[in-house]
Amino acid sequence: MLFKSRGKVALISVHGDPAIDIGQEEAGGQNVYVKEVGEALARQGWQVDMFTRRSSGEQAEIVQHGQNCRTIRLTAGPQKFVPRQKIFHYLPEFLQAFLDFQHEQKTIYPLIHTNYWLSAWVGMELKKRQAIRHLHTYHSLGAVKYSSIDAIPLIARTRLRIERQCLETADTIIATSPQEKEHMRSLVSKKGNIIVIPCGTNIDCFGSVDRIAGRAKIGIKPEEKLVMYAGRFDKRKGIETLVRAVAQKEVKRHEKLKLMIIGGYTPGEKDGLEKERITSIVKELGIEDITVFAGKVRHEDLAYYYAAADVCVVPSYYEPFGLVAIEAMASRTPVVASKVGGLKFSVADGETGLLVAPQSETDFALAIDSILSDSQWREELGDNARTRVENKFSWDGVASQLDGEYLSELSNLYQELGLLVPAV
Ligand code: UDP
Repeated sequence: MLFKSRGKVALISVHGDPAIDIGQEEAGGQNVYVKEVGEALARQGWQVDMFTRRSSGEQAEIVQHGQNCRTIRLTAGPQKFVPRQKIFHYLPEFLQAFLDFQHEQKTIYPLIHTNYWLSAWVGMELKKRQAIRHLHTYHSLGAVKYSSIDAIPLIARTRLRIERQCLETADTIIATSPQEKEHMRSLVSKKGNIIVIPCGTNIDCFGSVDRIAGRAKIGIKPEEKLVMYAGRFDKRKGIETLVRAVAQKEVKRHEKLKLMIIGGYTPGEKDGLEKERITSIVKELGIEDITVFAGKVRHEDLAYYYAAADVCVVPSYYEPFGLVAIEAMASRTPVVASKVGGLKFSVADGETGLLVAPQSETDFALAIDSILSDSQWREELGDNARTRVENKFSWDGVASQLDGEYLSELSNLYQELGLLVPAV
């Protein structure tokens, strides 16, 4: 379908490169969100430029995603992977590179949609310098994150301050679930304009494969019972809870049981260390023979894994949204997830999966067992899950909601500037 051009928007995602391989070195949900939202907005008629930090000299500076959508990599700091806790220092350089890019292109982006607190700083600085509307998606809130981890990083105070300033000064904050909005209000600030627009998933890709084809492709026999996890190796993800649950007698008693843990890691980096830690727990529990570490899987290929699985487990200690849950649900696979954050919004307890107490290996074991023990119920949960995602969480649906928001922001901006609002 052809749309009239709606105008330019810059999606800024300093550390979450939308054109990079997903599944390791801090590349996860945010990268997917920015890429999918950008591409879907371009389909709605927006001219979308997605700005990120160049993290290797070998990376192309510009990656074209489609006719009206591209990733632009700006140089700020060393051209190598830098963990997100260390990126703040390079933000002034990023800001300058963004302003230089605008200058070279003789353009200004009237709409700036920033992602994660690092980019929020860039958005706030831009708003001081030019007439723009600033929208922001947090992806993760420091106030929530630091309440669930033992070692609070040095950068925490800066992050908390910027997150509060952003909530109070951005034109619109996009929470991805009512639970995230509630956290912003109770833990960050009572001021600021928050709307809820969820994350989405590619419902054509996830759900395109059936169980038999999925199993044939990834080498799982029809009689095997497959429990899966997909995501980054990060303590907050709760993989430890999952492996401990699988080792409980309620789950272990299932014959032909297999646990597949999907996600990339780099030896020696934070995710590599977490993978090593999980591997040693798996050994200690004596479940090495049924556990497979599948490594990083290409995002689109995950469709086979979700389709093949009997249950997908999302055992996070905290999860602002949790894309993996809706990807599994789109693939007709029930989800057992922690009753936290956005998972309480995406997973309908008892209808599309089960929600259980975070960090409770016993509750996870009971929930996994109940789904593995009843294949008819598993199918019912899977069908309901697919319907729920089709109704609430498609990227095109999400982009339509963002489209409406962007149009109203633009019209406010034009009115503030005393300009006529262009017809779309
Ligand atoms: N993912 C992937 N390949 C992998 C592991 C994960 O493509 O090997 C993707 C997964 O499909 C999901 C994203 O990484 O889209 C993780 O997003 P989520 O919101 O679940 O977690 P986050 O990384 O944001 O904490």
